[in-house]
Amino acid sequence: MSAIHQSLVEFTRDLYNTDEFIPLHVPSFGGNETQYIRQTIDSTFVSSVGEYVDRFEEMTAAFTGAAHAVATVNGTAALHAALHLAGVTRDDLVITQPLTFVATANAIRYCGADPVFVDIEADTLGLSPDAVERFLKTACERAADGSPVHRPSGRRLSACVPMHTYGFPMRIEELIRICRDWRIPVLEDAAESLGSLVGDTHTGRFGQVGILSFNGNKTITTGGGGMIITDAPELARRAKHVTTTAKVPHRWEYVHDELGFNYRMPNLNAALGCAQMEQLEEKLRSKRKVAAAYGEFFTRPEWTEAGYRFIGERESTQANYWLNTLLCPDREARDNLLEQTNSNGVMTRPAWELMYRLPEYRDSLNSGCPVAEDLAARLVNLPSSPLGSKGQSA
Ligand SMILES: *Cc1c(COP(=O)(O)O)cnc(C)c1O
Repeated sequence: MSAIHQSLVEFTRDLYNTDEFIPLHVPSFGGNETQYIRQTIDSTFVSSVGEYVDRFEEMTAAFTGAAHAVATVNGTAALHAALHLAGVTRDDLVITQPLTFVATANAIRYCGADPVFVDIEADTLGLSPDAVERFLKTACERAADGSPVHRPSGRRLSACVPMHTYGFPMRIEELIRICRDWRIPVLEDAAESLGSLVGDTHTGRFGQVGILSFNGNKTITTGGGGMIITDAPELARRAKHVTTTAKVPHRWEYVHDELGFNYRMPNLNAALGCAQMEQLEEKLRSKRKVAAAYGEFFTRPEWTEAGYRFIGERESTQANYWLNTLLCPDREARDNLLEQTNSNGVMTRPAWELMYRLPEYRDSLNSGCPVAEDLAARLVNLPSSPLGSKGQSA
């Protein structure tokens, strides 16, 4: 093993204080999880009715500052429901980024729409407002009613879905300004950015709606789960309605007044979520310590002089450091680092395959993404669990 890879393996082992395998991100349960879950079982309210769903929604709203929060069965379902409510429909186009988890593009596809992949920015890893503006100015026009249309295809642009990659806030305010001008609703995929702020405002609160994920690998987990957050009361009411089969409340009748989805979060999962939410601040603090330690480690000359760069939070933003990210000088250096760390019990991972390289999205529109191409080839995620997580100490 080369000296720098050896030093990274040793550093990570010191950080997590273990000689055993170090995973990328694991859930940890250090609070009231067992007690709350037992309560749902004792009460028999494990499924679609129960107090924990309401409580988890209230806790999420309070934490993010959103006026309303609607719990869903997972983050993908939250995104699908949000796009559906924004009116995204068959043959529409939806702007998003090529560097994301596949759920972002899939949710667009579930509506019968197609993603348009627009480039990201090097310092945020998120959708580039400049690239979006360029795409709109060069390839789109306003229809007679002012709505945006993709000129070559004549298709309607019905939404824009930026994603806060690995918890680093993208330049959401600039994007909102451009999309407002073009009358394109912005839906934020904040699945990875629970705890990430722009100024004092939580990510997911800038667009008309934001979505969160509580999958097992995220900052806190409900096993599987998601959340729609919004400040708009009518949108929240509609979100609750369509994610609960669009059933009209009645003492005994089964009437569903539109196409609905069975996307409600079970009470059992919400119980886990309430216990996890109680520990969120502490987990975020611990993750900041991990990030600060990496940040300092990667300022050593053997890293900086070889062209490695650890990604930190931008000025006037706060990242949750969901997954710590290192940019290698080139693809070869990345491959070596992946090989050496993974062979030595330290889990690291490359970026996701860019969306337009996946079979499902090979034919989707793509405005040219040189930055995504470059970064996806050089980026590595490092172990990022909070310190002291179970399964990590020897
Ligand atoms: C995790 C994630 C989602 C949602 O995932 P679920 O597993 O369905 O909760 C959506 N988008 C991104 C970018 C994600 O990382």
